[in-house]
Amino acid sequence: MAFRDEIQALSGQNVNLCFQCSKCSSGCPLADKMDLKPAQVMHSIRLGRADSVLNSQAIWLCVDCETCTSRCPQDVEPAAAMAAVRVLALQKGIKPSVKVIDIYYRGFVDNMRLNGKIHDASVAGITQLLTGQLIPDLPLAMKLLVRGRVKPPPLPLGGGRFRKIYRNALAKEKESRA
Ligand code: SF4
Ligand code: SF4
Repeated sequence: MAFRDEIQALSGQNVNLCFQCSKCSSGCPLADKMDLKPAQVMHSIRLGRADSVLNSQAIWLCVDCETCTSRCPQDVEPAAAMAAVRVLALQKGIKPSVKVIDIYYRGFVDNMRLNGKIHDASVAGITQLLTGQLIPDLPLAMKLLVRGRVKPPPLPLGGGRFRKIYRNALAKEKESRA
């Protein structure tokens, strides 16, 4: 399937409706950090520029706030297209081009597998540890812990249900792609 069709199927969006007004880009809070602005992502999808979109930093910097979607005069949802590109990138085995996001996502899923829910401080701590940011932030983390603003991590006992759902989801995905 062509790249554009794959994204349209995954996102449910007709990217051909985009007329490049750039209202999505001008409202995006992360646009100034992105290598491709949301409107450029939409345009690149239309043109079938798979490599540049799948390997862009933009798709991983997107925080799914949906500001772009709410501003689109064509009722297209750039946020859904961004999410679909992320899914496709992972399906194709393309690692996130922003290392910290890769580490954060893995920490998030691992945390769910252990606890069945997210313990924010653990995910943040693991991400900082693996990106070399833990030492500078340690004094602040200790202060928050002492003042009771951060709860200690729970015992890793609650992840059984999530692991089952996760396994089923992986099996279904494998089945649908066979
Ligand atoms: S706001 Fe909508 S129409 Fe305008 S560039 Fe973005 S996606 Fe395209
Ligand atoms: S959903 Fe993503 S692309 Fe859209 S405005 Fe938010 S951060 Fe930007």
